[in-house]
Amino acid sequence: MNVIIVGIGLIGGSMARDLRCKYPEVSIYGMDASASHLEEAIRLQLIDGIASSKEFSEADIVIVSIPVDAIVKELPKLLDLIGDDSLVIDAGSTKSEICSIVADHPKRRNFLACHPIAGTEFSGPSAAISGLFEGKTNIICEVEKTAFKLQERALNIFSGLGMRIRYMNPEAHDRHIAYVSHLSHISSFMLGKTVIEKEKNERDIFDMAGSGFESTVRLAKSSPAMWTPIFKQNKENVVETLDEYIQNLEAFKQKLIDNNFEGIYKEMDNTNKIKAILKGIPQNNKDR
Ligand code: NAP
Repeated sequence: MNVIIVGIGLIGGSMARDLRCKYPEVSIYGMDASASHLEEAIRLQLIDGIASSKEFSEADIVIVSIPVDAIVKELPKLLDLIGDDSLVIDAGSTKSEICSIVADHPKRRNFLACHPIAGTEFSGPSAAISGLFEGKTNIICEVEKTAFKLQERALNIFSGLGMRIRYMNPEAHDRHIAYVSHLSHISSFMLGKTVIEKEKNERDIFDMAGSGFESTVRLAKSSPAMWTPIFKQNKENVVETLDEYIQNLEAFKQKLIDNNFEGIYKEMDNTNKIKAILKGIPQNNKDR
């Protein structure tokens, strides 16, 4: 199997690790805007070499794991480069703009729009880990627009990586993911900002922050280069989630001001049902 990974960072590199493990005969070539990431990926044996146009024409699968603004720019050009029997999948965290940019591309049937719900707050090839996708959900959009035999090829690979599949349309994906992923990142970034601004002394943060702070602020370590284009592409949905979140924060603050501690207790008690909801999520699916 000939694989090309465009963007050999956390997601692309983790896919490379698992593909090598499940398919020992695979040859993997990489393409990346960062020369140092390519060198590092070769040193870590994530890839066998740098992809040229020859590898593109012979690729069985091209995995596009670059930031979502770069996907919108590069995906049509990548589809121009590939052979008639090649499959291109992306891993972008947004789906509407990506699907619409290739809607009329002559090789649209060679593309499958995906979002693996798996990751960490780290970036680059050194962040790549084995088993990242095991037991995780992969959201596939507009499956009917991909050639059937290429869908089958993709599903075989996803099943080899241990992924569960959910089908959604791009608009529903972007609406749902704004709540469960994009809002969590904004909330974590702004919590980090609030504490950094107030506690100018880093030592105080270090000494006094309990594990509650550390786990809630974990996502604020994520890459701004990856997240800014996600918020830009999903702006309308993200603004809607923020309106609702800010309303909830304001209502909580008002209860405190009004000494409405019964209301505060009820609010938290109702929200405790998140325990039961999260219990339904497999343990190793809780990273993102
Ligand atoms: P990452 O670790 O930063 O890796 C992305 C790589 O792509 C970097 O080496 C980057 O180089 C390179 N790159 C940027 N623009 C490029 C271009 N135009 N052409 C070729 N290479 C380019 O990012 P990641 O976390 O793997 O995320 C990749 C994709 O997966 C994104 O679309 C993201 O939305 C999606 N995703 C991420 C997660 C997550 O938890 N991280 C989860 C699910 C899906 P530079 O560093 O030099 O820019």
